[in-house]
Order: sequence, then C-alpha cells, then structure tokens
Amino acid sequence: MADATIIKTICQHSRPLPADTMAFLRGIAEDYAKVRAATYERYGGIRSLNHLTPVYNILSEMRSCGLRSQLDLPSAYYELAVMEAVTDIKSMWGTVKNKVREAISGRDRLTADELKYLRTVLRIDTVFAAVLNRRKYEMPQNMEGISVETGRLNNLLCRLVRQCHMKPAVRKADYFRVTPAGYCYKDGGIYLVSRIKRRRVFLPLKDGQVSSHQICVRLGDGEANLYLYRESEAKDISGSASVYAYIGYQDAVTLSNGHVYGAGLDRLVSPETERLNAKNQARSRAVRSRLDSLKAGDMAKAERIRASNLGKKKYDRQKQRARDRTQNFINAELNRMIEAEKPKRIVITKLIVKPRTRHYSPQANRRLARSFGSYIRRRLEEKCRLYGIEFVAINPKGTGSTCSACGSEGIREKQDFHCENCGYAATIAQNTARNIERMSKGTI
Ligand SMILES: [Zn+2]
Repeated sequence: MADATIIKTICQHSRPLPADTMAFLRGIAEDYAKVRAATYERYGGIRSLNHLTPVYNILSEMRSCGLRSQLDLPSAYYELAVMEAVTDIKSMWGTVKNKVREAISGRDRLTADELKYLRTVLRIDTVFAAVLNRRKYEMPQNMEGISVETGRLNNLLCRLVRQCHMKPAVRKADYFRVTPAGYCYKDGGIYLVSRIKRRRVFLPLKDGQVSSHQICVRLGDGEANLYLYRESEAKDISGSASVYAYIGYQDAVTLSNGHVYGAGLDRLVSPETERLNAKNQARSRAVRSRLDSLKAGDMAKAERIRASNLGKKKYDRQKQRARDRTQNFINAELNRMIEAEKPKRIVITKLIVKPRTRHYSPQANRRLARSFGSYIRRRLEEKCRLYGIEFVAINPKGTGSTCSACGSEGIREKQDFHCENCGYAATIAQNTARNIERMSKGTI
C-alpha cells in the first residue's frame, strides 16, 4: 500500500473583492450553470443512457454544438461544466437503479427467476439501455436455460424507471470549476482566464497555497472561496491489530475490545436537532401567518414577516457551524482511535439503506437525516486509505440481534442488550461490535 494516494480538499479564501471582479465571477458561474443545464437536458434522458461513457464523445459533441461560442465561455470552464454534468447524470442513473431494485424486492408476485432476470438487466448497462429503449439485446449468459416472460418484465422495468427517472437540475449558480490551463498563481493571488484574450482577472488570496489540479471557485458575499484538490501520499503506520467497530448514534465508534471513541456524539447532535426542530416549527408558523396576512390584504405585515422571520442566511450559517463542530469532533476521535489502536485492518458493517416503507415522524426523519453514520463511515474509509489500513465492510445481517456470547437471539431494549439463554448483558453497541468480530472471523 506504499504508493496509495488520497485526495484531500483544501479551502482557500480570497481577500475582499471589488465589485467588477465579483461581477465577472458571477457571470462565469451563471454560464457554467447554463452549460450544466444544457448537458442535463441533452444527455439526462433514457435515450442517452448507453452513450455516457466515454465522456470524450459527449465533450466533443458539446464542443461543436455552438453553445460555447454563444456563451463566449472559455473552455477552461466550459469543459469541466460538461464533465461535471455527465458525472451527475451517471449518479442519477445509479440512484434510479437502486430505487428500482428496492421496488422489485418488495414485490412478492415475482418468482426467483423473474427477480434474477430483472437484477441481471439492472446490472448490465447495455442490456438495461436496450430494454428501456425497446431495442433488441442478447440474453445475458447467466440467464441461459431460464425462461421468463421478458416482455412483461421489461414493461414492468420501463414503468418503474419512468416513475423515478428525473433529469438532474441546476439548483444554484454560485460556483464554477476551472482547469489548470485556466489559472495561474502569482503576485499573492490567482489569475483566472477571462472572456477577453490575454486578459486575466486577479483574485488576491489570504494564503500562499497553490494547486496543480482543477479548482472549484465558490462565490461568497464580496469574496470567493477556492477548493483545491491535493493528492497526499498514504502514510504507513504499520500496525498489527484487527479492529472491529460498531458505528453508532450515541457514541461514534465502539470497538469489540470495549474501547469507545467519540463518546457522547448524541449530546453534540441532539441539542442541535432539537434547536432545528424548534426553528422549523417557528418558521412554518411564520409562513402560515404570512399567508394569512396576504389573504387579508395586509401587504405591509406580510413583508415584515418575510423580512424578519423567513430569512435563510442566519439559519444556514448556524446549521453549517453546528455541522462543522460535529465533524471536527468525529475526525479528532477517529484520529485518536487510529493512533491508540494502531490497526492493520478495520472491520465495520455496511450501511443499510432502509426502504421507505415505514413512515417515521418528522422528528425521527430529521434525526435520520442528521445522523452522522454515513459521514463516519466515509471518513473512516478515507483515513484507512491515508494510513494504508485495510478497510472491510461486512453485511450487518444478524450483528445486532444475536448474542455475541452464545449465538442465540437476544433481547434489545433501548441501548441495552441481554441474552436470556446465557445471561450475557452489554450495550447494543458492544454486543454488535463483538458480533462483527465473530462474523468476520467466521466463528458463526
Ligand atoms: Zn447468549
């Protein structure tokens, strides 16, 4: 793992920028968004599904379609807008397939062979594209000897895809990306290529970092933030232990050896969740009373409510700050764990995406949305790459409900686990971590 690398994002702040520089940046950001929107429109549909790879074909079509000269957008921005949009389209298709997979697993009327056929089609892009576009295709190899009513199943597939397929859309036009050819660092700042030949626009920066990859420029209030991507070499910490970790809501990480890292994560997250709940309730009250004022014709009052109660800026800022605080805490604790445990291998469970069959309360939904489980998993995986640690995610089936001492079904109550068969008692986190250890060692 000596030559493994990891991509890190570094944020670089500009100094306050003059109005004409801001106007230039905003213009580029708006055109960048237009290029993304045009690419979504052209290639986000079912007919383009099979033509998304290689991206160079789309790039050359977009180069010659006339949009670039119409917008007069330098190619240092234009091409990245196209590539970013194609990436979004691909990830949209990933989401569509997952939704369809979920939908077909929930249908009891499908036989095992029919399920196998549908899952195979979903797995092979060329076949999937042919089915959706009603074109001929060759039966995949693993379906040989199995006969299913392909016509009916293909119709089902088309219907399910239609239900959840949606072209990606541009939400905000407040950023753009630029290739290395489009910028250079000099004079304590960065020069960006402009629409006028040989004229570059200067942004003074607060620090002296430089980049050799693409940069993402995000517009703020009278300033810009640059996001740099840096490859850093994976460090070797040459540990020897295998660590089995349960990722939780109360404590970030509980290991099978009993050590806990990120204890009290919920105490950091819950007050913020409650604060947001209260805020959101107050907001919906304000929305209602503004509507009432509008109906009653009291425009002055409606405007007053809009201006003082429905602003998003402060709300977003506070939310972001709380999130940063929690993420810093998680990162520091994960680092502490790696330092202390010196693992050679970290084993966790895969994250299970719950199908949306049960309806949770708004509060529970918000709690789920604000849960940091997937963040912890992602950071842990990145850190493993950084330190050359093997990262393994196993199927969580049974890790929560079985007794880690005797293997029989136990009882879970709130945070605690106990087994009536052998009398073992522990926290759910502890029992699950021990099960992850047992299962990944194959002792079940
Ligand atoms: Zn037991």
